[in-house]
Amino acid sequence: MLKPFRGTYDQLPAITDRLDYITGKMKHVARLYGFGKISTPIFEYLNVFTHSLGDTSDIVTKEMFTFEDRHGDRIALRPEGTAGVMRAMITNKLTQDLPQKLFYYGPMFRYERPQKGRSRQFHQLGTELIGDPSPQADIEVIAMGWDLLCALGLKDKVVLEINTLGDTASRDNYRKALVDHFKQHVGDLSDESQIRLEKNPLRILDSKSEQDQPFIQTAPQMKDHLTDSARAFFDEVLAGLESLKIPYKLNSRLVRGLDYYCHTAFEFTSTHLGAQGTVLAGGRYDSLSEIMGGPALPGVGWAAGLERIDLLLDQTPEPARPISLIPIGPEAEKESIKLAHILRQNDIALNSKNRGNLKSRMKYANKINSRAAILMGEDELKNQSVVVKDLDTGTQETVPLSNLTTYLKK
Ligand code: ATP
Ligand code: MG
Repeated sequence: MLKPFRGTYDQLPAITDRLDYITGKMKHVARLYGFGKISTPIFEYLNVFTHSLGDTSDIVTKEMFTFEDRHGDRIALRPEGTAGVMRAMITNKLTQDLPQKLFYYGPMFRYERPQKGRSRQFHQLGTELIGDPSPQADIEVIAMGWDLLCALGLKDKVVLEINTLGDTASRDNYRKALVDHFKQHVGDLSDESQIRLEKNPLRILDSKSEQDQPFIQTAPQMKDHLTDSARAFFDEVLAGLESLKIPYKLNSRLVRGLDYYCHTAFEFTSTHLGAQGTVLAGGRYDSLSEIMGGPALPGVGWAAGLERIDLLLDQTPEPARPISLIPIGPEAEKESIKLAHILRQNDIALNSKNRGNLKSRMKYANKINSRAAILMGEDELKNQSVVVKDLDTGTQETVPLSNLTTYLKK
């Protein structure tokens, strides 16, 4: 038997309806904010990701799907959206036309252990506001994430957690303080965090290992190592959120898993998702463009997991109910093909079983939740009319063909 690859799943119509509902809300909210949609390839040269994500990130060290193409070029399936968008900014010289307000959605790929809310091909939607260094940009993209979650009815199921990673000077100060702290406990840290202590001590704060937690609890906090200007930047972001009445919780241990972030870091989390609690996550990444060989270019954005949003949704609106057409007799059978075509051309959703007796066709109509059945017999045909049966109430009415479209639309 042919099997799907572990950690992938097929999007059957019932799921695509739900996911399309979410991306539809995203398109709507993005339009309200003046963001245009960008689609970059699902694979890129490997270095697009290794350069941008850094050698110590989880994604680069253990989660990427990579391969060599026929010419020996090193390729990766995209694990996230921002690197590709930034590469596209540089490739297409959008860097000369700022600010750029972009959003995207599509499949991402990570070699992770599959579990609830975590798969190997999953889908993200995200936004990037590039070329705007002001705290107002941070406020705008966070507000956009909040509006999306509100539009999806998730206002009461998520919490915004926020932190600042400061500017370069703040981070240098803080890194020193962290190294001093963790060095005292180096033997008790998890193996992974011992490596992080060498390479990127900030990311120890992101550790999920139980063993590290006591030392993370007592670690120095960023807020005590901020430069005045980094402090002022963060205060302005927070004041903006307050003025928009977007509730938030300060979380001094929130550091994003990637190395290019600075200033604002945030996550919308939910207690309804178990261990995979992060629904939407983002931050400011002013050094990313330069790291990737582009010009200095500030940016701020976020990405959200489509499947995780879906797990939080109770119900998505059902698509409009169709109508079923049921011919009775060979003449009607022939005519029904034409009538079905005309109705669809007039924007009436029609779904019928093509063969079988009245009973089995009725059964199908009920199974697909049709709102009405059009019964078309030889007698009705002679009179250029049909019988329309309301499948909720069971009442039926004879309707002239000339009036059918109008009748069905009301
Ligand atoms: P986590 O801590 O859950 O691994 P992350 O830091 O790797 O998250 P990001 O890279 O910030 O996540 O991705 C943004 C969002 O994409 C996450 O908050 C989550 O909703 C979703 N996401 C990330 N990895 C997966 C996955 N393997 N399967 C499904 N959704 C995912
Ligand atoms: Mg992850």
